[in-house]
Amino acid sequence: MMYGYAGAILRVDLTNATVRKDALPERLVKEFVGGRGFVARLLYDELPPDTGAFDPENLLIAATGPLTGHFLPAGGKTHFGTKSAATGGYADSNMGGHFGPELKYAGYDVLVITGKADRPCLLLIRDETVEIRPAHEYWGQGSITTEKNLKDHFGNDYQILTIGPAGENRVRFACISHDFGRQAGRTGVGAVMGSKNLKAIAVRGTKGIPVADLEKVYAKGKQAYRNVMAKPGFEGWTPEGTAGITNWTNEVGVFPTRNFQTSFAGHYKDINGRAVIERLKITDKGCFGCPTPCGKYGHTKTSFGSAYVEGPEFETIALFGGNCVLKTIEEVAYANYLCDELGLDTISAGVVIGWAIECFHKDILTREEIGREVDFSDLETVIFLLERIARRQGIGNLLAEGVKIAAAKTGRESDRFAIHVKGLEWSGYECRNAPSMMLAYMTADVGAHHNRAWVLGHDLAGAWTNVHDLIASGGEVEAQPKAVVGEQSAGYVIGSQNKRSLFDVLGNCRLQMMELGFEEDHYAELFTLITGREKSWQELLLVAERVWHLTRAFSAREISGFGRHFDLPPARLCEDPIADGPNQGHVLSKEEIQKLLDWYYKARQWNSNGIPTADILVRVGIPEVAADLEAKGLL
Ligand code: SF4
Repeated sequence: MMYGYAGAILRVDLTNATVRKDALPERLVKEFVGGRGFVARLLYDELPPDTGAFDPENLLIAATGPLTGHFLPAGGKTHFGTKSAATGGYADSNMGGHFGPELKYAGYDVLVITGKADRPCLLLIRDETVEIRPAHEYWGQGSITTEKNLKDHFGNDYQILTIGPAGENRVRFACISHDFGRQAGRTGVGAVMGSKNLKAIAVRGTKGIPVADLEKVYAKGKQAYRNVMAKPGFEGWTPEGTAGITNWTNEVGVFPTRNFQTSFAGHYKDINGRAVIERLKITDKGCFGCPTPCGKYGHTKTSFGSAYVEGPEFETIALFGGNCVLKTIEEVAYANYLCDELGLDTISAGVVIGWAIECFHKDILTREEIGREVDFSDLETVIFLLERIARRQGIGNLLAEGVKIAAAKTGRESDRFAIHVKGLEWSGYECRNAPSMMLAYMTADVGAHHNRAWVLGHDLAGAWTNVHDLIASGGEVEAQPKAVVGEQSAGYVIGSQNKRSLFDVLGNCRLQMMELGFEEDHYAELFTLITGREKSWQELLLVAERVWHLTRAFSAREISGFGRHFDLPPARLCEDPIADGPNQGHVLSKEEIQKLLDWYYKARQWNSNGIPTADILVRVGIPEVAADLEAKGLL
């Protein structure tokens, strides 16, 4: 018996319509523990060489962790991994909700899907019974509509994943949706699912998960709920969720606005966390076992339509309320709803639309090419473009490629303001006066994604106090001093990257620790009680570090010419001073950017081209990866 795990991998080959159940390998568990660790190792080992993201041979993996599915605070995470539709390198995206626990109750820790069905299909899992069924009647439907229809058909006990039209049409930033508003949003995992003609996955499990010491897990779990809810930040953080930092990000000038031309939106109090709870919210909505539900389910009404929607959380507010300058929280929420139904990542969609509007303003894309005039602060522009992107119609076919490819095809120096790293669009923090956070974006393994490391508190130490002040802050906007650029940024970023990677490995939400200060030793203790494998927090961090080196090696192996230049931000973020707001005039120079990379590579023990050295790969226990890189001439 493997305590803490269901003990099996479910393998589905859609080309041959076959299903197989394999035992979860002991070595995989020992060295990679779960979640993102399983995704990274399985992708590295099993993806055939030179596979394209949309080739049938690409793998789509859903992996849970040892803390997923127990009645403990927030153990509801599932990790989705694949070769990226956005970057061509390593990709993963995590999702909350209830899917991961249900998959484990059905008897599987990991689901590995390969091949391509010859017609639209869905995967139905009920414990040992696994079926590939036709899904013609759902093809073309929105993500939320499909989930509702499948719940009506199979029953509310099923936990369901869906893609929308964007995934069907292989939009490179299509997401996988679940629980009427939760997404594995980033890196185009929905496009890979669509490329396999897989519209949905429905799972129902009726088994339990064995744990090593049930009595102590129960007692510790009960105590953990009490502890989380007694944390000083609990009352302050939970009501607004992530939307609560909208005020602060504007006051310190890191809020992406007008396609990152500036970092402050004057109307931020019309789109902040307070606006969410006063003008939209019906109820809180959380993931499996979560005592701090950050989801805000509500209703929005605009002159273009009305909808029920979960959100918007901070990232959506930043990219639609800031980057596209939508004027009210109702408009932001409506754009959020459209993305959810069409199956689009709100972050990438907001960046791509911001870029298209700026191209129009600069006469790089014409009215005829786009199909109408487009502008910031215009919900009609956003609706027009989202619908075309999801269906790859007209200008939507270009924008569906993501901002990097769209800019390369468009030319005329439009790549200067195509805001991405490695091909993944930049998420909700503008960093021209935040060197550590800039470095975090540059070195994130999946591309420019904030959730790999969050180190703004170090950059803005004077402005950062605690979560209470942050949410209660009342709009004091002051000019910010130029941030200090120094070697310490590398340490902050690496520390945060490893810690966050660990939560993804364990299958647990990190927000209780990151936002409320819930103690890290709690997680190591629970891991030991659940699995019977004694590991300290530091030993678990070594697993997380191993994963980080492995994903870098994967991208080096998969992307031709991969190296240092893949970590650089677009020209706008290292040449153009911020146009206005608290950080007006600030910019990190190209030299400072290069220095940050030097410090980071040195601290990670990567070579000057950003490739992990043989020494570090051996030290973290994956010497075979060093041999692979050497054989390919990458070291
Ligand atoms: Fe889900 Fe939010 Fe709770 Fe984390 S804090 S488990 S993301 S509801």
